[in-house]
Amino acid sequence: MSSFCQSCGACCAKFRVSFYWGETDAHPGGTVPQRMVIPISPHLVAMRGTEHRPSRCSALEGEVGQQVGCSIYPLRSSTCREFEAGTPACNAARAHYGLAEIEPEPA
Ligand code: SF4
Ligand code: SF4
Repeated sequence: MSSFCQSCGACCAKFRVSFYWGETDAHPGGTVPQRMVIPISPHLVAMRGTEHRPSRCSALEGEVGQQVGCSIYPLRSSTCREFEAGTPACNAARAHYGLAEIEPEPA
């Protein structure tokens, strides 16, 4: 997790966080707790709380823009793992909460 993310969480409370249903623990090799997702199409689920507006993932702990954590961090979906700090989507989420734009962290 980027150091920015621990005091942000905006993306977890802005977008619909959807992914292939096979990533849930109802399926072999899946990790995301099934109780924390909701079906949105025949093959996709979304993190509960992100399927409507205003959005806030049910796994998000803390206060956006202050101090946050993900209660299922080691089990989170590919969508969450691939979301990068400092990208246009990240900064769009941050702007929604009045947080300053950030640059990608060096690899
Ligand atoms: S919006 Fe960007 S900085 Fe904030 S938690 Fe998401 S990836 Fe991290
Ligand atoms: S599962 Fe964790 S990382 Fe993914 S959107 Fe929810 S709080 Fe954020």
